[in-house]
Amino acid sequence: MTTESWVESAADGGFGIENLPYGVFARPRELPRVGVAIGDRVLDLAGLAADGTIDGRRWFASGSLNAFMAAGRPAWRANRDRLVQLLTDAAFRERVRPHLVPLGDVELLRPFEVADYVDFYSSEHHATNVGRILRPDRAALGANWKRLPVAYHGRAGTVYPSGTPIVRPSGQRRTGDEDEPVFGPSLRLDFEAEVGFVAGVPSGTGRGVPTWAFRDHVFGFVLVNDWSARDLQAWESQPLGPFLSKSFATSVSPWVVPVAALEAARVEPPAQDPEPLQYLRCDEPWGLDLRLEVLINGRVAARPPFASMYWTSPQQLAHATVNGAPLRTGDLFASGTVSGPERAQRGCLLELSWNGREPLELDGGMRRAFLEDGDTVTVRASAPGAGGATISLGEVSGTVHPPL
Ligand code: CA
Repeated sequence: MTTESWVESAADGGFGIENLPYGVFARPRELPRVGVAIGDRVLDLAGLAADGTIDGRRWFASGSLNAFMAAGRPAWRANRDRLVQLLTDAAFRERVRPHLVPLGDVELLRPFEVADYVDFYSSEHHATNVGRILRPDRAALGANWKRLPVAYHGRAGTVYPSGTPIVRPSGQRRTGDEDEPVFGPSLRLDFEAEVGFVAGVPSGTGRGVPTWAFRDHVFGFVLVNDWSARDLQAWESQPLGPFLSKSFATSVSPWVVPVAALEAARVEPPAQDPEPLQYLRCDEPWGLDLRLEVLINGRVAARPPFASMYWTSPQQLAHATVNGAPLRTGDLFASGTVSGPERAQRGCLLELSWNGREPLELDGGMRRAFLEDGDTVTVRASAPGAGGATISLGEVSGTVHPPL
C-alpha cells in the first residue's frame, strides 16, 4: 500500500515517499548540510534536527553523509520511519514546511567522503564484449571470471559530484601500427554507466562481511560514471589493471538511495554456473531491477539493465573483504559497466561502437565512435518502489572539456 505525502509534487518524478534518498546540499552563502529529496524539494534535515523535530543534529549539520552512514542500520531505519511520518501526516505540515527548500535554489554536492574506491567488472555481457574486442585471439572471459568478481582499486580522491567538468586526460598510447608510444590527449575518451553502493558501518580487521550481513553495513546506492581513456588503458594495462586511464575522474550522482527503498526492486539474478565457492553464496535474491538510461547531449545512447549483472552487490562486498581488509565508512564499490545482451543495452562506447569500428548513430544525425569535447554524458535510472511506485536514482552528468 502506498501512503500519500502532503507534499504536492511528491507523486511525480520518482522522488516520492517510497524513495527518500539522502544527499548534501548548499544554499548560497550557507554551509553544506544533509537533506532528503521529496518531489521537487529537498527536506533540510539539519534544520529539522535543530528544531528538535528529528534526532541527529551532529549527523546532519555536516558537509557529508559519513557520520549518519556510520550510525548504523537502527539509526537509518528510525530516521526513515520518522521522515515518512512527518511527510505523510498532515498534522506535521506546518512544522515541516519551512524546511522544504526548492531544488532549484540549492547546489547538490558530493554526498559522502569517499574512503576507498573499488570498481568491479561484473557484467558478463560487458566482459565478454570487451574480451572479444581487445583480445580476439583468446577466450572472451578469463578462467577466473565466473569464480570471483574481478575488480581493481580506483582513485578515491578523484570521485567527483555530478556536474563537475571532465577535462580530457593526456597520456601515453601506442596503437597497433606504431612502433613507439606517443604522448598526447586521449583520442578514445569513453564513459562507463555503472551503479555503486557505499558502506556505512565499518567491519573489523581480519573479519569479512558475509553476504547475509550486506544490509548491516551498506547504506545505499548511487549512479557512477567511470570515465575511461581507452587508448591510454590499452597501452598501460599490460600486465596490471587500469591506472591513469581511469584515475583522472569518476562521477557520482547526488542522491544516495537507501537500501531499504530498493527492497521492491530485488529480483533473481542470472543463474551462476559453476556454483561459486561457499563464501560467495547468497541465500537471498540480490539482483536489482534498476533500469539505466545513458544520454549523450540529451539523446538516448543506451538503456542498460542492471538486473542482468552476473555478480550481485552482496557477493561483491563479501569478496572485497574476504581477505580481512576492513571496510570503512565511505568505501565506494562500483559495479563495473552495466551492459545487457542487446546492442542498445551496452553501457559504454567501446562496446556501442565496437572500438570505433561501427560509430553509434544518435538522433539528429549525430555519430559517435568516442566522446568529443563539449559532449555531455548523463546516466539516469529508475526502479520499482514499494506499492507499485517508481523510484528514481536521479542522474549523474558530466561535460567533456578540452585539455588545459
Ligand atoms: Ca568501470
